[in-house]
Amino acid sequence: MPLVPGRQILMEALKGGYGVGAFNVNNMEQIQSIMAAAKETRSPVFIQASRGALKYSNLNYLRHLMLAAVELNPEIPLAMHLDHGNGLDSAKTAVELGFTSVMIDGSLKEDGKTPTTYEENVDVTRKVVEYCHARGVSVEGEIGTLGGIEDGVGSGQIHLTDPDQAIRFIAETGVDYLALAIGTSHGAYKFKVAPKLAMDIVQKVRARAKDTPLVMHGSSTVPADLRDEINRYGGKMPNAMGVPISAIQEGIRNGVAKINIDTDGRMAITAAIRKVFAEEPSKFDPREYLTPAREAHAKIVAERMREFGAAGHAQDYKPMTLEENKAYYQSKK
Ligand SMILES: [Zn+2]
Repeated sequence: MPLVPGRQILMEALKGGYGVGAFNVNNMEQIQSIMAAAKETRSPVFIQASRGALKYSNLNYLRHLMLAAVELNPEIPLAMHLDHGNGLDSAKTAVELGFTSVMIDGSLKEDGKTPTTYEENVDVTRKVVEYCHARGVSVEGEIGTLGGIEDGVGSGQIHLTDPDQAIRFIAETGVDYLALAIGTSHGAYKFKVAPKLAMDIVQKVRARAKDTPLVMHGSSTVPADLRDEINRYGGKMPNAMGVPISAIQEGIRNGVAKINIDTDGRMAITAAIRKVFAEEPSKFDPREYLTPAREAHAKIVAERMREFGAAGHAQDYKPMTLEENKAYYQSKK
């Protein structure tokens, strides 16, 4: 199975009433563990790379790891997604690498920090949609700004999405799916107490944009057991709470189809590595700590796939090619 356009995976999820996890990667082990989890649970999946990840992995390394994931897992619908693209250039880079889904985060200026005006957001998003759709690649936009900062992206302030503006934005830009700011936050240090998410925003957008899958960013749960394990073996993570699984599941019932998870995977990997370092300080072969790290990562990813309801849905549909998706966009013009 070649890489699948993101739109198809999320439209199927919307139809089936489940959510698809979008997991961030920077290296081989992370891609391997996500694919192992997708295979075990038979789930469709998004693998996503931030601009920081592309820089870290030197573009071509990531491209070939992604192609290996496709070759080795022909039965899994897999979209390769650019997370928080900051302009037309980053979208072009991703499309040239073979990505089948691109996020343009027009809620922030190219510096990834300064919030834009609504008009600026529409302007850059529309350009990216035009470029990507002409190549069969799907596009995610963002309206409102999320809290927290990750990989240098974020304004550090939350501006919740205005539902009316979101509806206008979908119509004016033609985005395939849309990230809403409903009170979630990027990174591991999100909340002191369990957050109350603005689910009414999701419901209001969903009621008037039935065919637009919605996206939740900053949705790691920051598991306490992993934090405790990290700290037990010499780490230093302060107490913090993430987004409870029940809140994500409520989002899924209200039209959220893509859920971005990064921190939870990082924590699983770090806890496993620290444990080996602490308990077996004589070990120095990277495989001896990366193997348990990979297993711990796969375990938490598989857990999320089951919790989001994606498990068992890998073979529900025949995957579309980029050419077919391109024809779909042209037919809508
Ligand atoms: Zn994000």
